[in-house]
Amino acid sequence: MKIHEYQAKEILRKFGVPVPTGLPAFSPEEAVKVAKEDVGGELWVVKAQIHAGGRGKGGGVKIARSLHEVYELSKQILGMTLVTHQTGPEGKVVKRLLIEQGVNIDRELYVGITLDRAISKNVIMVSTEGGMEIEKVAEETPEKIIKEPVDPAIGLQAFQARKLAFALGLKGEQHKNAVKFLMALYKAYVATDCSIAEINPLVVTKEQQVIALDAKINFDDNALYRHPELAAYRDLEEEEPLEIEASKYNLNYIKLDGNVGCMVNGAGLAMGTMDIIKLAGGQPANFLDVGGGANKETVANGFKIILSDPNVKAILINIFGGIVRCDRVAEGVINAARWIEVNVPIVVRLEGTNAKEAQVLLKESGLNFEVAGSLKEAADKVTKVLTKN
Ligand code: GDP
Ligand code: MN
Repeated sequence: MKIHEYQAKEILRKFGVPVPTGLPAFSPEEAVKVAKEDVGGELWVVKAQIHAGGRGKGGGVKIARSLHEVYELSKQILGMTLVTHQTGPEGKVVKRLLIEQGVNIDRELYVGITLDRAISKNVIMVSTEGGMEIEKVAEETPEKIIKEPVDPAIGLQAFQARKLAFALGLKGEQHKNAVKFLMALYKAYVATDCSIAEINPLVVTKEQQVIALDAKINFDDNALYRHPELAAYRDLEEEEPLEIEASKYNLNYIKLDGNVGCMVNGAGLAMGTMDIIKLAGGQPANFLDVGGGANKETVANGFKIILSDPNVKAILINIFGGIVRCDRVAEGVINAARWIEVNVPIVVRLEGTNAKEAQVLLKESGLNFEVAGSLKEAADKVTKVLTKN
């Protein structure tokens, strides 16, 4: 689960991670009120809140030197379609702002924590190259990213935090503050079951403070049941509507850009199916794992979700009958196709237990299925159907 920057900062603040004073605002009037009454001072930053980074470059982060400027900039940013390297070309409409105290930046650094699955440990990464795309730093100057794995049994140790602070070139008061910062950030990461906590930039101020100027936090969805208090942070308006709909049906659906709808049982087989569609020259419109059952209801719900995407021009159903028998799946597909009006060609490939019986059922159904034997044949058929239409 992703959350907004202002929400991430609210959580970090609770764990003692220094962040600038600030509050969200949903209108220019509220922005001025927040700037005047809650933040104070005479320099503010108006920040677009969307679930994507790179807002600064896209014009979503602006400095205001008066309350009038806070108003004007808020009016300008709220409602704008912000396009960044993370939003895709269609961009995202800004519906929330964060109004923050302006900070006297001396240096912009980077710190990120995530799980390194290869070593089964959380890894803290720091870099002196803050404020820019860390992906670029990793590609062009990987030696400028310093990594420290954390032993899960004992957590982050002070000597490790000191080592990282030295790697950032920090001395004296700054070093002391950085160590405190890193210890608190790691505590927040573990306590809330994050999958990523990234501070870019982590800034050193002219006053020697070390604070999180930006904050990106994602939570591990599988651990969300342990944190009912985090549910309120979810912003459904930032999520793909079809994915929200699919989760209501317990379907594992991810929307993609292509035009071949896929319905598959098993995540691995679904990935393989998408690969082979691409190999055959097609573009998958989605990832969809319908799970083990694949009965009439599941298949019908799958059809509904797939067909809600106007880009879908053909559907490939690829089900392996291991625990579930293929003839039962075929019955489910036939019933669902009669139930839901499916107005695009459907290619079906069923393999495994009772596959032959399933093929007969599909062919004799009177419905317009293209039946395929192998996965390659299925992918070829579905791309051919597309070029015909
Ligand atoms: P992102 O572009 O989505 O990653 O948004 P950030 O929160 O990282 O902001 C982008 C940039 O705006 C930062 O790298 C800073 O250079 C600048 N910025 C943000 N807040 C302040 C501030 O309080 N003072 C100053 N001078 N610059 C800021
Ligand atoms: Mn940033």
